[in-house]
Amino acid sequence: MSHALLHPRDEIMQTMERIYRYRMTTTSGGNLSIRDGDGGVWITPARIDKGSLRREDMVRVGADGSVEGLHRASSEYPFHRAIYQRRPDIGAIVHAHPVALVAFSICGRVPDARLLHQARSVCGEVGFAPYALPGSDRLGENIAAAFAKGHHCVILENHGVVVGGENLQQAFQRFETLEFTAKTIIKARMLGEVRYLTDDQVALPRINVIPLLAFDRTMDAPATNQEKELRRLLCDFVKRGYRQRLLISTEGSFSARLDAESFLITPYRVDRNTVDLADVVLVRGGRAEAGKTPSRAAADHRAIYDRHPEINAIVNAYTVNATAFSVTGATFDSRTIPESYIFLREVERIPYGVQFGRPEELAARVSARRPIALLENDGVLVCGTNILDAFDRLEVMESTAEAIINGRQIGEVRPMGNDVIAELSKAFLGGG
Ligand SMILES: [Zn+2]
Repeated sequence: MSHALLHPRDEIMQTMERIYRYRMTTTSGGNLSIRDGDGGVWITPARIDKGSLRREDMVRVGADGSVEGLHRASSEYPFHRAIYQRRPDIGAIVHAHPVALVAFSICGRVPDARLLHQARSVCGEVGFAPYALPGSDRLGENIAAAFAKGHHCVILENHGVVVGGENLQQAFQRFETLEFTAKTIIKARMLGEVRYLTDDQVALPRINVIPLLAFDRTMDAPATNQEKELRRLLCDFVKRGYRQRLLISTEGSFSARLDAESFLITPYRVDRNTVDLADVVLVRGGRAEAGKTPSRAAADHRAIYDRHPEINAIVNAYTVNATAFSVTGATFDSRTIPESYIFLREVERIPYGVQFGRPEELAARVSARRPIALLENDGVLVCGTNILDAFDRLEVMESTAEAIINGRQIGEVRPMGNDVIAELSKAFLGGG
C-alpha cells in the first residue's frame, strides 16, 4: 500500500489506530504529527480517546501558529515544532509511552539497537533527553537538542520515546522496531548476559545474491492457479503473523516452494502488515521476478529448498522470546512439554554471519528432522512441510521460549527425561 497518496488526516488516524491496537500506547498517551509542504504541521488533538480517533479530529497548525480544526492541538505540540525546526530532514514524528521503552526511560537508560543488524540499521543510535515538564518549552529544547545530534530515536527520561522519520511510515517502523528491541533486551536479560553486535558485525553487509539477476515475467507463461493460491496463502499468513506479533513491520521473511526450481517469497522492505499478492516475489532458478526485490533471506531459502525436497515453507521470524534466546548464550531445550518436543525437536544454533553469505552451510544445518535454527542475534529460522506447518511450528517455538523464560522466574526448569523422549519419539516421530 502506498502512503504517498494518503491525506495526512488519514495517515495519522491509521497509524495511531495501529499503535493503539498493538498496545504500544495507552489511550491518553501518545501523539503523531506530519509536516506538510507549506510549513504547517498536522497533529493529533489534545485529550481525545486514541481508540476512536476520526479523521476530522486532526488539527493543523500553520507556520504562523494559526490552528485549524475541531480541537486544540496536542499539548506536546511544542516539542514537535522544536524538532522540525532543528531537523529539516524529518517529515513526521511519533511520540508514545510503550511499556518496554518506558521501562528504559524510568531507569534513565537507552536500548542498544546493535542487538540486531536490522534494528541498528532501522533505528540507528538511540539518544536521550533529560526530564522536563510535559508540554513545556524546556522539554522541547531538551528533545530537539538530542535530535540535533543526529538521532532518529530519543528516549525521554521518566516519560517515553520520540521517533522521527522522513515520513510517518518510516517513523512508525523505527518506533515499532525499537519497542521490539527493548522488549527483547528485557526478556534476554532474564536469560543471562545479552550479546550485542560489534562495530565490525554491524558494518558487515548483508549479502543478497538473488536480485542481481532478474527475469521478465511478462515474457513468461501466466501464473498458474497453484501459484495464485500459494501467493494468497503466503500473504494471509504474513499478515496473521504480524497480527500475532510473530513478525514486525520491518523484520521477518516467509517463503513457500512452488515447484522443484521455484519458490515465492516476501519482498524486501515492504510493510508486513499490508503485503499484497503482487508484492510477493517469484524466485526461479536463482533469478527473481524483474522489478521486485526479494527478502534478503532469499539466498538462504533457496539453498534450503535445493538441499531438502521435503521442506516446502520457510520463515525467518523475530519473535520477542525466541529472539531473546538468540542474543544470549542460554541453551534452548525443547523437552518442556510433549507438543514442544514433537514440533521443535533439537534446535540448532547458528553462529552470527553464516546467514549472510554461506547459504550452503546454513542449509546443511537444518532438515525436516531439525526444522528450527536459532540464528545468533538474528531471530529464528523455521522450516515446514507447508505454510501452515511452518507457521504452527513458529508459534510453538515462541510459546515454548516464553514458557521457559517465565518458568525460570518461578523455579528450576526440568526437561523431560530420556525415557519420556524415547516414548514420545516412538509414538509420534516414527523412531526409537
Ligand atoms: Zn507523552
